[in-house]
Amino acid sequence: MPVDLLKLDNLLIELEPFKAKLVAVSKTKPISDLLEVYNHKHRFFGENYVQELVAKKEALPNDIEWHFIGHLQSNKVKFIAPFVNLIQGVESWNLVQEINRQALKLNSVIDILLQIHIAKEDSKFGFNESELVEAVRQLQQTPLTGIRVRGLMGMASFTDDVTQIRKEFKNLRKLFDTTLLSLNPFYRNDFSILSMGMTSDYKIALEEGSTLIRIGSALFGERD
Ligand SMILES: *Cc1c(COP(=O)(O)O)cnc(C)c1O
Repeated sequence: MPVDLLKLDNLLIELEPFKAKLVAVSKTKPISDLLEVYNHKHRFFGENYVQELVAKKEALPNDIEWHFIGHLQSNKVKFIAPFVNLIQGVESWNLVQEINRQALKLNSVIDILLQIHIAKEDSKFGFNESELVEAVRQLQQTPLTGIRVRGLMGMASFTDDVTQIRKEFKNLRKLFDTTLLSLNPFYRNDFSILSMGMTSDYKIALEEGSTLIRIGSALFGERD
């Protein structure tokens, strides 16, 4: 299936009034597909698998902004730490600490989003509300200088029930706003990204205040 560049253009137009950004989720897709999107002047790509991300990073131009959006194992952070621009799915305090450790080793700072569990399913990863409050408290008490918490990320339930999806996005937006209010000025400026919405639910996500949508199949076609 060819890459749908017209859809990309239309999505970017659709995003404008919301001042949101789009990450092209290219997992499992060949380099040639990514190049097509790159040559269409798009620079934001999201990948779910460490090895695949590293291989694609090496094969493609240097001015791409790479987001890691998958389930990240602590022992693999070191492979993406030197170049990743945003780690979106940081789902545990352990992982926060490991990313901080790897960044300090490189003398750098890595941008992250804390992943929040908003769906009904148990299978989705992330902090719950009280864990988030605790993480923020810890961070403000003992700053980790290798990371910058840029915001929150979440995935809605896998369902056709749009009322349920909207409710989950609304909750995430509320959590984002209350977290922002609880941050001291030093952290508040950096905290500006709310990543929610994918191919099936991005319209609802935008209406509920998303600033970053992650779109795969609408651009690249269904995955195998
Ligand atoms: C695969 C994936 C997406 C993109 O999903 P589509 O439905 O193909 O748009 C978005 N976010 C995450 C976390 C993903 O794993």
